[in-house]
Amino acid sequence: MQQSDTISAIATAQGEGGIGIIRISGERAIAVADTVFRAASGRKLESYETQRAVFGHIVDAAGETVDEAMVLLMRAPHSYTKEDVVELQCHGGVMPLRKTLALTWQAGARAAERGEFTKRAFLNGRLDLTQAQAVMDVISAKTEKSLKMASGHLAGHFSAGIKAMRHDILGQIAHLEAAIDFPEDEVDDVVTDEVERNVVDVRNKIRKLLKTAHTGRILREGLMTAIVGKPNVGKSSLLNALLREERAIVTDIPGTTRDSIEEYANIGGVPLRIIDTAGIRATDDIVEKIGVDKARAYVDESSLILALFDGSRELSAEDEEILDLIAGKDALVLLNKTDLAPVLTAEKLAERTQAPVIAIATVTEHGLDDLAAAIQKKVYDSGMDSGDEGSFVNDERQAEILRQADEHLAAALRTIGAGLGLDFISIDLRSAWEKLGELTGETVGEDIINEIFSKFCIGK
Ligand code: GDP
Ligand code: ZN
Repeated sequence: MQQSDTISAIATAQGEGGIGIIRISGERAIAVADTVFRAASGRKLESYETQRAVFGHIVDAAGETVDEAMVLLMRAPHSYTKEDVVELQCHGGVMPLRKTLALTWQAGARAAERGEFTKRAFLNGRLDLTQAQAVMDVISAKTEKSLKMASGHLAGHFSAGIKAMRHDILGQIAHLEAAIDFPEDEVDDVVTDEVERNVVDVRNKIRKLLKTAHTGRILREGLMTAIVGKPNVGKSSLLNALLREERAIVTDIPGTTRDSIEEYANIGGVPLRIIDTAGIRATDDIVEKIGVDKARAYVDESSLILALFDGSRELSAEDEEILDLIAGKDALVLLNKTDLAPVLTAEKLAERTQAPVIAIATVTEHGLDDLAAAIQKKVYDSGMDSGDEGSFVNDERQAEILRQADEHLAAALRTIGAGLGLDFISIDLRSAWEKLGELTGETVGEDIINEIFSKFCIGK
C-alpha cells in the first residue's frame, strides 16, 4: 500500500456552486499547491504555519491566471488524513475545478481513488473502521434519524461499545492466563465462575445490539415500500402527500400511473423508499400489463406494502384480488377517501385482512399521522429508544460479525460447562475478541478494507 504518494480530487459535488474545493493530501501536498497557486502575499505556502487560510490565484504552467482561490493549509497531523492536506477553494464551476485539478496532476499529484482520503484517515488512525464507514452514511443520510445514526457512528458511539466489550474479553483472557500458571483446582473454579458471568454479560450486550440491526438498516438504506391498489383509488395522491410535493402525476383517468417511480419519503425520520406501482387489475393493455406484473413483483420485493381501498365504493373484485395478494405480507391497509360519504367501512375491511386498517383521506391529509405512527411502530421494535440511533448496528457486515463473535462466546460457555481446561476457554475468547476487532478495523484484512472504501465516491 503506497501511502505517502500525493493524491488530489474534487471534493465538492459536481455542478455549479459558489465554491468548489480540490483536496490534495500526502507528503508533497504543499509542494504541489505551491506549483499551482500564487499567494497574493507573494509568499510560498511552505513558509506558512499550519491551519492557515491564504488568498491568491491558481495559475497554469505559463503563469496565466485560471481562477481566484482561497487556500486552506493543514499540516500533518492536524488534517482529515493526518497527512499534509491543502484545500484549494476555487469557484464552483466544472471548468475552473477540472482545470485546476489537472494542474495538480501535472505538478505531481495523482488522481485519488474512491474513498482514498477517508481510507488514509483510517489507516493513519484518525478514524476506526466503523467511523470511516459512517462518513458516507453522513453524506447520504436521508432523514434526521438516519443522520443521527451516522453522526453517532462517526463520533465513535457505536465503536465505543465494541471497544468496551473487547476490553472486557481481554480482561478475562488475562485472568485465565494468570490462572493457568497456578494449577490449583480451587482457583480454576473461582476463575471460570467469573469468566462465565462476564461472557454472559457480553453476550447480552451483543444480543441487545443485534436487535437494533433491523431498524439501523432501514434508517440507513430506507424501507422498501410498495403502494398498491386498483386504479383511481388514490395511490399517486398518497405518494404526493407522503412526499409533500407534486411529483407523480395525479389524474382522473384510471390506469395512468404506468411507470414505476422510486422516491424517498421522510416519515417521522424513517426513510421510505417508495415505489409507486401501477394499478393492479386484469387488462389487455400491454403497457398497463407491464405495470401490473411489476406491481406483483414489487409486492414480493418490498418490506412494507401500503394497500389502498376506496371508502366511497363497495369492495370490488379487483380489491379482493389485492387483499389476496397482500395476505400474510407485512402490510398496512389504508381506507382512503374517508372524506366522502362512507360505503366501505374500516370494520368491513378488517374482516377481510389481518393487517392493521387505517382510515385516511389523502385530499385532507386526514389519518396521515396515524399512518406515520403505524410505520414507526413497525420500524422501531418495542423497548428500543428513539434517540439511541448513534449506537445502532447499521449494516449486514456488522450484524454478521456480531453473530459470529457471539458464537465464539457461546462456545466458550460450552467449554466451561464441559469442564475443559482453562486454555481452551481462552482460545474461544480470543476468537471472539479478534472477531469483534473486525468491526473497528483492528483485525481486518486489506481486501475487506479495499472493498469497503471502493463503495465511496471520488473525493471523499
Ligand atoms: P391512483 O390511480 O390510484 O394513483 O389514484 P390517484 O391518486 O390518481 O387519484 C384518483 C382520483 O381520486 C383523483 O381525482 C384524486 O384527486 C382522487 N382522490 C385521491 N384521494 C382522495 C381522497 O382522499 N378523497 C377524495 N375525495 N378524492 C381523492
Ligand atoms: Zn396513480
